[in-house]
Amino acid sequence: MSGSSIENNQEIPESSAPPNFIRHFIEEDIQTGKYDGRVVTRFPPEPNGYLHIGHAKSICLNFGLSIDYHGACHLRFDDTNPEKEEVEYVESIEADVRWLGFDWKDHLYFTSDYFDKLYDYAVSLIQMGKAYVDSLSAEEIRRYRGTLTEPGKDSPYRNRSVDENLALFEKMKEGHFDEGACVLRAKINMAAPNMVMRDPALYRIRKASHHRTKDKWCIYPMYDFAHCLSDSIERITHSICTLEFENNRELYDWILDALNVYHPRQIEFARLNLSYTVLSKRKLIELVTNGHVTGWDDPRMPTISGLRRRGYTPESIRKFCERIGVAKRDSMVDLGLLEYMIREDLNKKAHRVMAVLNPLRVVIENYPEEQTEMLTAVNNPGEPDMGTRQLPFSKVLFIEQDDFMEEPPKKFFRLSPGREVRLRYAYFLTCTGVVKDDNGLVVELRCTYDPATRGGDAPDGRKVKSTIHWVSADHAIDAQVRLYENLFSSENPATEEDFKLCINENSVQALSGCKVEPSLATAMPGFQCQFERLGYFCVDTRDSTPGNPVFNRTVTLKDMWAKIKDR
Ligand code: ATP
Ligand code: MG
Repeated sequence: MSGSSIENNQEIPESSAPPNFIRHFIEEDIQTGKYDGRVVTRFPPEPNGYLHIGHAKSICLNFGLSIDYHGACHLRFDDTNPEKEEVEYVESIEADVRWLGFDWKDHLYFTSDYFDKLYDYAVSLIQMGKAYVDSLSAEEIRRYRGTLTEPGKDSPYRNRSVDENLALFEKMKEGHFDEGACVLRAKINMAAPNMVMRDPALYRIRKASHHRTKDKWCIYPMYDFAHCLSDSIERITHSICTLEFENNRELYDWILDALNVYHPRQIEFARLNLSYTVLSKRKLIELVTNGHVTGWDDPRMPTISGLRRRGYTPESIRKFCERIGVAKRDSMVDLGLLEYMIREDLNKKAHRVMAVLNPLRVVIENYPEEQTEMLTAVNNPGEPDMGTRQLPFSKVLFIEQDDFMEEPPKKFFRLSPGREVRLRYAYFLTCTGVVKDDNGLVVELRCTYDPATRGGDAPDGRKVKSTIHWVSADHAIDAQVRLYENLFSSENPATEEDFKLCINENSVQALSGCKVEPSLATAMPGFQCQFERLGYFCVDTRDSTPGNPVFNRTVTLKDMWAKIKDR
């Protein structure tokens, strides 16, 4: 199927997606009519953990291709390992794929639904003399396997007759043998340069109950055997997987050819590696079970559920996956790129609100006692359609402790004794004095305001160098705020001897007694906003209760202390 002389059987749908080698292969197959122009991909998670951002790359890729080429994408649970708690994982995976915005329609499959078929395929291989029951121990099988530089040795059981193999395999299925007593192996070549081809195991005995097939089976197909045949059974056209399966392709080809069944095209791409992050399920499970995090959905976790709880949107994750693209070579993506994507998204969507994380009391001496006035604040300066809201202003305010210095260095332009600043959406404010506690700590500022500067502009044109945020003490709501940092202090934790030793001790800082503006009283769990000058935050979906919101910092602003421009 080479060259340009091939007739164009099928139209290739137009797409805005940038070309890449996977799309190139698919379009080639559409043009040559290899699969009658069909495009069917799949996302095949093993339900043994929660999905992470690496899986999102695969999901966006597979579902994205099926959408672009008007095909289908199957969600298939590769549940060949009987393990406990799989139901929880299955449910979380379905929820996460949906949340990312993808729909498998009625194409939901389980490898375990194919156990009967897979068993029949194994029997066929035995009948063809292409599989045998080996009674060597696991340890012996390892020793017989050879190394990259030395060929393996044939098992003494390799030449059992077809009838003997059929009888033994039947007995394996009937539960006559203990776990590990024997395995079914493909009869390929113990001297093959590709180690995968040295008579790989196809079936093993596991006396465990499966979350779907319960106790029907005590033999289970190996991943390699089940995977390629599941793709074949579902008539997948393009079986897209990560690079570590390149070596296995030869085995998949061998199995499908031996059985003379439908043959998908496998295409490998580089998995996602993200800096300051681990993306191996085994390691993520360790973090959860050893209590290094509060659960799979801890906002520091790179899981989809963790990112969701942290305040990431499906759009930002999809954009991220689109931006990183696909490659044939492993590389490390900067975590900063993911953060950039959520900032870009929230910049357009999130309401600006005022919140004071470390409150310092301000008393405005010339403001009338008992008076409250409402000031108009813009919800999103870049999006006029998002409207405005009313902010209460009164005699006693809170500002950020950081926004005041009694003895400021040269470059400090925020509040200090004698200095005038702008209160966002309110008035110019001048500090006239400080109140200290017994330890000499500043606990209150005495200030005056200029009533002529309502809204934040001086009629005489005088300027201030800084605008700070505030809340009205009587009207503010108490809140807890969690500031998150990277979970790991090493850029590539996976290369450390023990990845757990580089867990960042300061990955979460929990603040209580924070003060947020009253409009947040009705904010529902999941609500996202920008705390002006501080970053993007969302209301935690687990720990918030009505009237006692807990905010998670999704991401900082690019430059936290950039001066807010005059409106
Ligand atoms: P892990 O290595 O985290 O245990 P896995 O590959 O064992 O992951 P599966 O449930 O088998 O997890 O993965 C389902 C699909 O997601 C596979 O097709 C796999 O290639 C893909 N996938 C897993 N991790 C990544 C990643 N980091 N980048 C891209 N795709 C990934
Ligand atoms: Mg896997």
